[in-house]
Parts: sequence; structure tokens; C-alpha cells
Amino acid sequence: MPARNILVINCGSSSIKFALANEERSDFLLHGLAERLGSPEAVLHWQRGEQSDSQDLAGGAHEAALARLLPLVEQTLEGPLHAIGHRVVHGGERFTQACRIDAEVRQAIRATAPLAPLHNPANLLGIEAAMALYPQLPHIAVFDTAFHQSLPPRAYRYAVPDALYREQHVRRYGFHGTSHRYVSHQAAEMSGLAVGDSNWLSAHLGNGSSTCAIANGQSRDTSMGLTPLEGLVMGTRSGDVDPNLHSHLARTLGWSLEKIDHMLNNDSGLLGLSGLSNDMRTLEQAREQGHAGAALAIEVFCYRLAKSLAAMTCALPRLDGIIFTGGIGENSPLVRNLTVQHLHVLDLQLDGAANARCVRGVGGPIHAAGHPRVLVIPTNEERQIALDTLAVLD
Ligand code: ADP
Repeated sequence: MPARNILVINCGSSSIKFALANEERSDFLLHGLAERLGSPEAVLHWQRGEQSDSQDLAGGAHEAALARLLPLVEQTLEGPLHAIGHRVVHGGERFTQACRIDAEVRQAIRATAPLAPLHNPANLLGIEAAMALYPQLPHIAVFDTAFHQSLPPRAYRYAVPDALYREQHVRRYGFHGTSHRYVSHQAAEMSGLAVGDSNWLSAHLGNGSSTCAIANGQSRDTSMGLTPLEGLVMGTRSGDVDPNLHSHLARTLGWSLEKIDHMLNNDSGLLGLSGLSNDMRTLEQAREQGHAGAALAIEVFCYRLAKSLAAMTCALPRLDGIIFTGGIGENSPLVRNLTVQHLHVLDLQLDGAANARCVRGVGGPIHAAGHPRVLVIPTNEERQIALDTLAVLD
């Protein structure tokens, strides 16, 4: 059988990220981003080998972007396209692994929308537009939550009345599953250990951030919950706060739920603490120049991350290593260093030179000799989605 080609689509409310993968190649044949969809500035950017280019989509929405993508994919491929893998953020309790999309699966993704009101409808837009354009191809859904369906009840239940779980599906789901799974497999391979007999803590640190405890290939706990707001300090999200903050702000300031929601999701995190930016690069530069807010934001970010990692050890029988990934995890020696400094109890210590070397796509071990393993591993969610899509085809 010739090596198969898979198109991976990650559809947001106003953007589509895409990558064209071939099962025998480690790089992508084509990848890119359509952004500002539905606005006059809508544009499609792509990269093919060394060549990058863009095309104006002027007002085009998801269908228009995918219709432009089709000829690009066809020009790039020598053989046929075999399937399309779609990232879907929330699979609820129904989806424990990737699956082929039919009318019933689409309905189930739609029914899960109350749990992910921003993401699932956008994911469905992409699925429906792509199925209309490529009706003869298998379309596969790969869920961000699926990897965490192996959490035991003690990790996924909230201590609220049972009926809220049974009737309203209120529980912890976790996200970033594709990334945590990918980097934990890479970590095992890099360390000469079997996936099924190794135990990892993974920190995916991007605009959204989460930690995960992975025991013998299975997610056993993770820091995000019912929604991606729970857990760590993020770019603009607060992470954990006292749940009574809602009633406190309503009582003292008369804020509506919508206003509180917006504040916690869009005005908080690194941005809220620093008063400057949600972007770690900007904050690191400002900290260097003595900006107190930037220094505080980084300090709180790293302390809360260390606390979460320490808590996650409860889910593991032993620790084979800690993994840093995501834009911040892969590129910030400062964040890695400050975080590890809070984890002396776990005997962690970094090798300064190795830590400094691991940036811009360079991964590897960064721990000092004789101390527990700490790894930097560039994530590749598109590749994992392509691998999952191939596994469903098989
Ligand atoms: P997303 O969650 O949107 O995929 P990314 O994984 O790309 O986000 O991560 C974005 C974050 O990575 C931003 O906070 C950005 O500042 C940070 N980042 C990227 N490069 C660096 C760097 N060299 N140093 C520090 N932070 C960086």
C-alpha cells in the first residue's frame, strides 16, 4: 500500500489551522493558517517546503477558506488524499478515542456544545464545510478530552451534589489531551522506556496551559476541568480562583455573570497580573527592564505551575520525568528554571547550559546529572491527529 496522505484541520471560530501529513514523512507537505475569517481582512497563509505564500480571502468564511485549500492540497500531493482528521475540543464522556464522523457523531458533538460553547460549534463548522467539499473521504474526529477519559472518579468528580454529575454532566474533563499524549510518547522513546511502563508529568504551557499525570500511557489526572479555565495561570485566563469570587463580585460590585466570565477568561492570567501583556516573551523583556507587574506575573505563573506538578505526583506510582512543552514550555529557560526551583522536594535540578540550549524547536534532557529527568519536548498536535486518523482508518 502506498504511504497515505492525511489532511489535518483545526477549526476555530475565525481561523483554520491545517497540515497535510504523509505517513512516511516526519515533516508536513503543506501547512498553514486561514485567519480573520468572515472579516474583510480574511487571509490564507501557507508554507510548502521552503516556499511560503498567502492569498486574500476578502470576507470569506470557513467554506471559502476550505474551498481555496482544496486546490493547494491537490497541487501538493502526488497521490490521493486518504482522509481528513478534525480536531474537536470537547467529546464529553461519550468519546474516549478518535472516531469516524457520521450524522450521529456530528449530532453528539453538537449536543456537547453547552460544555464548550466557543469551540465545538466552530469545530462543527469546519467538519460540515469539509464534508461538503470532500464527501467521498473518511472524516475522523480527534477529541482534546478523549485522552483524559481514563481519569479515575476521585480525579474527575467535583465535590458537589451527585445529581449535578448525573443529570448535568458536571465533572472534570481536561483538555490538551492530544499534546499530553504526544509528548509523553516522545518522552518514553527519548528515554528508552516503554510507554506502557513509564510515568510522566507533562506541562503544556501556551496561551492555554495545563498539567497532566500520565501513568503507563494513561492520563490519570489533569489540571483543567469542566472548562479550560480551571487550573494554572494562563495568558488571559485566571486558572483557579475561590469559587465564591463570583458571588463576592456580584454582591459588592453588582457584576453580572457574563461580566465575571469575561474578566476571568479574557482579562486575567498573565495579562491581568502584569497589567501589561498576555505574552510571555513581552513579559520576560519587561521583567529584565524592571517592570514589577511583569516580574510578579511570571512569579505567580511559575509557583502555581510547580504547585500543580507537585499535586499531580499523587496520581503516579513513581516519576520517570517531567516534560515541558507548548510555546512557553519549549522556549522559556526562565520559566523552566523558576518552576523547578520550587520543586526541591522532588530533588529536581536543571543543567543551566542544557536548559538554555532547548529553545526554538530544540528538545532534549535539561536536568543536572544525578537528578530526576526533566525534558523539553516540542509538541506536535497535528502529527498526533494524523496518527490517530490513520489508526481509525486501520
Ligand atoms: P497556543 O496555546 O495559542 O498554541 P503557543 O503554544 O504558541 O500558544 O504559546 C504561546 C506562548 O508562548 C506565548 O505566551 C509566547 O510568548 C510564548 N513564547 C513563544 N516564544 C517564546 C520565547 N522565546 N520565550 C518565552 N515565551 C515564548
